[in-house]
Order: sequence, then C-alpha cells, then structure tokens
Amino acid sequence: MRIVLATSNKGKVREIKDLLHDREIFPYTDLMEGFEIIEDGDTFKENALIKARAVFRALRDDKAVVIADDSGISVDVLDGAPGIYSARYAGEGCSDKDNFDKLINAVKSAGYETSPAHYTAAIAIVSKEGESCVHGWMHGDVSIYPRGENGFGYDPIFTPTGHALTLGELDSDVKVGISHRSKALNLAKILIDQIKKQRA
Ligand code: IMP
Repeated sequence: MRIVLATSNKGKVREIKDLLHDREIFPYTDLMEGFEIIEDGDTFKENALIKARAVFRALRDDKAVVIADDSGISVDVLDGAPGIYSARYAGEGCSDKDNFDKLINAVKSAGYETSPAHYTAAIAIVSKEGESCVHGWMHGDVSIYPRGENGFGYDPIFTPTGHALTLGELDSDVKVGISHRSKALNLAKILIDQIKKQRA
C-alpha cells in the first residue's frame, strides 16, 4: 500500500516517516510537481482534509492512501493565536524564525514572559475507501527566550509540561514520545491498518 504525504514540509515529513517507519511513504512532491493548495478552512480538521483531498484527486492513483497533517500552536495569553495561522503568522513565505519572533513580541506586548500553550495536529486520511480525521495535542508553555536548535517551527520557545527543556533542546526521540503529531499518527496508524485489512 502506498502512503502519500500531502506535504513537503521537511520537519513534518521527517517526523511522520520516523513514526510510520515500517510503511512505504512518500511526500507527494516525490511523485508529482508540487502545487498550491489553498487552506481556507476554519479548523485544523478542515484544512487537513482540504490538503489530503487535493493530493488524492491530483494523484489519480486508486491504491494511494493520502495523509495530511494540519497543525499549529495556540497560546493562551493571545486568545489561542496563531492557531490555524501558525505557518503564516508573520506573513506568506516567512521563516520559522520570523514566526516565533512575532510570537515572542506578541507575548511581550501582552505583558508576559511566558504563557500556557498547546500544539494541535489534525491528520486527515483520504483513500478510495473514504475520509477520516484524527487529532493529537501537546500541552506546555511558551517563553520569550528561545533555546535550542532541534525540531522546527516554534520548538525553541515551547517547553512541554513535565520537562525543563524546550523542544529545541530536547532530543528528537523525546519529542516523538510526547508530541501532538505522534499522538494523532498513532490513531492514524489504526485507521491505515483497517484500510489494509479491507483491501487484503
Ligand atoms: P501547516 O503546514 O499549515 O500545518 O503549518 C503548521 C505550522 O505550525 C508549522 O509551520 C509550524 O510553524 C507550526 N508547527 C506545527 N507543528 C509543530 C511542531 O511540532 N513544532 C513546531 N512548530 C510546529
């Protein structure tokens, strides 16, 4: 069974491949020219389904099982921002550093040095059998003092609950054990196995 990822985000591809390592997995851009997908949903779930559907349609491969991750960080003192806008918080085409610098400034402007926050991952699965979506969350705190180079995105400013180090400092193995994406992927694996059984 060919599992196709509806993303070319290197950080996500690496983490998803690590978790589903026993399966045949390709970012869709290994199979076709990348194309723009307008993520105009109002929730992580809607955006994940938009991406997975778009890639499934474009692939024209009945055997493919397409999975898409839509994820982001929600910060309590910012009323849940940036949320679904996490990837483009500092504007279209901005870097991870631009985004977390903007987040740091927003937390500072609100009069705080830290805030409770959480990551959400919605993973949509689209195949000829149908559509589904699962979620995972990771809770912790953001700080205005970035530390570490590991992970991607907002990881240098996020300390998971129960840890003293940021995700930028923690080993990738630790992140795999606790992350929103891992939790959602573990549920996604169950659904992928069901599709596999249906096809056997
Ligand atoms: P998406 O491609 O629209 O799902 O963008 C998700 C964005 O959320 C990423 O570009 C990051 O900015 C942020 N994000 C999601 N998951 C993580 C994570 O595990 N670590 C750090 N940032 C993340």
